[in-house]
Amino acid sequence: MIEVYKFGGASVKDARGIKNISRILQLHGKSRHLLTVISAMGKTTNALEEITRAYVHKQSNTGLLFQNLKDYHYTILNDLFDSPDHEVFVDVNNAFVEVEWILEDEPFDSYDYIYDHIVSVGELVSTKIVSHYLNYCGLKNKWVDARSYIQTDNTYREGKVDWLKTQNLIQESLQPLLEEQIIITQGFIGGTSENFTTTLGREGSDYSAAIFASCLNASSVTIWKDVQGVLNADPKWFEKTELLPHLNYHDALELSYYGATIIHPKTIKPLQNKSIPLFVKSFLEPSIPGTEINSCKNDLQTPCFIFKVNQVLISIFPKDFSFIIEENLSQIFNILYGFKIQVNTMLNSALSFSFSIDNDDSKVDKLIEALSKNYKIKYNKGMELVTIRYYNQQTINRVTANKKVLLEVKSRNTCQMVMKDSSKESE
Ligand code: ASP
Ligand code: MG
Repeated sequence: MIEVYKFGGASVKDARGIKNISRILQLHGKSRHLLTVISAMGKTTNALEEITRAYVHKQSNTGLLFQNLKDYHYTILNDLFDSPDHEVFVDVNNAFVEVEWILEDEPFDSYDYIYDHIVSVGELVSTKIVSHYLNYCGLKNKWVDARSYIQTDNTYREGKVDWLKTQNLIQESLQPLLEEQIIITQGFIGGTSENFTTTLGREGSDYSAAIFASCLNASSVTIWKDVQGVLNADPKWFEKTELLPHLNYHDALELSYYGATIIHPKTIKPLQNKSIPLFVKSFLEPSIPGTEINSCKNDLQTPCFIFKVNQVLISIFPKDFSFIIEENLSQIFNILYGFKIQVNTMLNSALSFSFSIDNDDSKVDKLIEALSKNYKIKYNKGMELVTIRYYNQQTINRVTANKKVLLEVKSRNTCQMVMKDSSKESE
């Protein structure tokens, strides 16, 4: 049976992390047919985004930013390999040179196209480094280019997967390779039919793991993280958190949909469709069982909390005091769609429509301007959105202490509240 592992950026952020992966694979992966998906190292994708922006805006520090990123990778390489003559240095350098060729020329294409061709190098080099290091330690493996298997359309930065093509390629050409050795490949990236590079959306490596697993009919996927598994709240906001040992696909989907950052929202569906269990485990403590997400029917017994800060609550009123009807709603959603803005929660009444979105400076003012043409708008910035799944009055009281709730939306299992500190004055 084939298994799929995914290691995120935090697990490969330095030489120690890569050595740890090697240990995990020696222990758990050796005797199995294993495909391992790896993200870019540490915060590399953020750095590459900054380099892309600098290049497109013709900033003079573009070269320096790229040099810093190369140095970060070369430091790790020097920590891992004794000799600078090891072929990994040439291999990694070749990948970087492809980006340098882009940076030397004038920006020539759409921002998103350039973004994908620059940012993808993060995953290409991280996998080259890990693959060479594993071979160096005697763990036989093969590096493969995910762009040859995960086929997408040419929606750069948000490639839509062509499932049929992807499945055929994976089953025909990749599956046989797994008979012989561990496969190391990239998360996050795909390729078009014309061999251009695409990415699948930020944090998309989990999704890549799910795509490979689905097409290979894998027996399980394991996402290795720096936490023990899926927790019922983010420790950043909550003092006491609980590990959830079991979770069904539905709850996992709902939690990631509402913004739990543990798993990329697109990851669950392909696995659910094929009943492939998903394990979330700690790469620091690999023997701890972690969380298993599968098709069990039981609802969660533990309330889960998802916090989003820096929200803007926008309320829309027709200027002529007519009702908010389907026509207005479709117009409003068209505008939101045009700005690619995701609505985090919403509520409709006869005379108003209210919703909460992330406060993305580059978009919010333009959105308000666009909506103001036809509607009267009120908005509040600096809001918090809390979602409680499996709520009760006690959990609501707990999160709303000293808060003023401006919007509350409840379904049978989920309660969402947009709120601010009661001490803050409204705008
Ligand atoms: N490296 C990409 C990112 O940081 C993909 C991922 O890590 O899942 O968004
Ligand atoms: Mg990541």
